[in-house]
Amino acid sequence: MKKRTDYLVVGSGAGGATVAAGLARTGAQVTVLERGPDYSRVGNHLFTIAVLDGHGFLKSNEGMGVARALVTGGSTLLTCGTACRPPAGVFEKHAIDLGPYLEETERDLRVTTLPDETIGEAALRLVEVGDSMGMHWRKLDKFIDPEKCEPRFCNCMLGCPKGAKWTSREYLDEAKRHGAEVLPRVTVDEVLVSGGAAVGIRGWEKGVGPVEIESGVTILAAGGMGTPVIMQRSGIEGAGEGFFCDPLVFTVGFHPTLEGGFDPPMTVGTFDFWESDGFVLSPVVDPWGSFGIEILRARPAFLGRWARFPHAMGIMTKAKDELSGRVNIDETFSKVLTHKDRSVLDKGIGISRRMLVEAGCPSDSIFVTKVRGAHPGGTCRIGEVVDTDLKTGLDNLYVCDASVIPDSLAAPVVLTLVALGKRLVEHLRP
Ligand SMILES: Cc1cc2nc3c(=O)[nH]c(=O)nc-3n(C[C@H](O)[C@H](O)[C@H](O)COP(=O)(O)OP(=O)(O)OC[C@H]3O[C@@H](n4cnc5c(N)ncnc54)[C@H](O)[C@@H]3O)c2cc1C
Repeated sequence: MKKRTDYLVVGSGAGGATVAAGLARTGAQVTVLERGPDYSRVGNHLFTIAVLDGHGFLKSNEGMGVARALVTGGSTLLTCGTACRPPAGVFEKHAIDLGPYLEETERDLRVTTLPDETIGEAALRLVEVGDSMGMHWRKLDKFIDPEKCEPRFCNCMLGCPKGAKWTSREYLDEAKRHGAEVLPRVTVDEVLVSGGAAVGIRGWEKGVGPVEIESGVTILAAGGMGTPVIMQRSGIEGAGEGFFCDPLVFTVGFHPTLEGGFDPPMTVGTFDFWESDGFVLSPVVDPWGSFGIEILRARPAFLGRWARFPHAMGIMTKAKDELSGRVNIDETFSKVLTHKDRSVLDKGIGISRRMLVEAGCPSDSIFVTKVRGAHPGGTCRIGEVVDTDLKTGLDNLYVCDASVIPDSLAAPVVLTLVALGKRLVEHLRP
């Protein structure tokens, strides 16, 4: 395939879809290239296994699991729907004021908290326990429509079949309504460069053949692990050196009576330790199918308890990790937790254990999952690989995804990426 477009967006996740919709709204000619397929049957384990990179077994060279989805809408399809502003200072340090864009994003994504009946008794019990232990637990903001969310049988992290959760497919659909072209199953290999400027891309359409597209402006939004690979293949230095992945563990117990296994994840939580220690706590357990796999990975002797999934009560510790490791040109990556990362996670696990026991889970029912990363980013950081307008060292080449975030947020990143996308549209709009 050979063609030409004014604006070429590579990747259709949180960053890419926002830029595509924003530019298409202005009447500009926009083409989106997405490596993954356009599956519509979301909300089941088969879908998740099909779209997760490595079918859920993507690992660093050292064996640490990291999750990313390769599908139209990217990883937004698998989120818990939790909305969180970035901690103060991360962008201000670079003289970037995301405030107005975050406000607009919260309106677009209809951010709200969920009612008690959707949150469920198990999570509400943890709020009580947290408060009784002197912490401040509260409802978290969600980009989930409470009217459509089905409590007691939530499948958030498998893709919401009820359409209750916002995903970047909403922006993709809007981009298409304004004339944008979205081409799935096209993997971009490298940016074509002429005279110090990006002039298009070269890639491959699955089952069809080579693709070459000329473009006026190219925006890489292939995610924290995808963009640095394209950058390196295009000869751009610095990309992929050091990254964060917000490592997380679930401390899980089994409650004798309360049932929370099928409740929506991350409906409540505490940010008490965010600034002081660099972690957040919030109730989550894996969806029931992957729950069994996580027991096998962490504590095979507990496998029989899989049947007690409805009574599982889990608290996630999501930590701010140090920038370390690297993403390589061949898509392999290296990541090990530093001593500091490990001790941050251990502190969260200790508090979670005490909370679960206090909530009524027998202490011998508790196990801790293996560490995983769910928000890979920081591989093309603002101030190092891109400037504050998200422009690379090449003219007409920009980046808008988790790779530009300068430091781990230890918190959900979608709100931040949509806000960055809106800001970039303002910079680029014709
Ligand atoms: C299980 C899970 C739960 C999460 N929960 C939350 C939550 O509650 N709230 C929150 O804010 N965040 C959450 N996140 C994180 C959030 O989903 C991601 O951080 C966010 O989607 C990243 O956006 P992005 O634009 O950087 O990349 P992505 O959304 O990953 O999009 C990148 C896209 O680029 C495509 N791509 C990659 N390489 C190429 C290539 N070479 N050519 C063409 N296309 C390419 C990919 O297929 C993908 O579609 C969660 C993540 C996971 C995995």
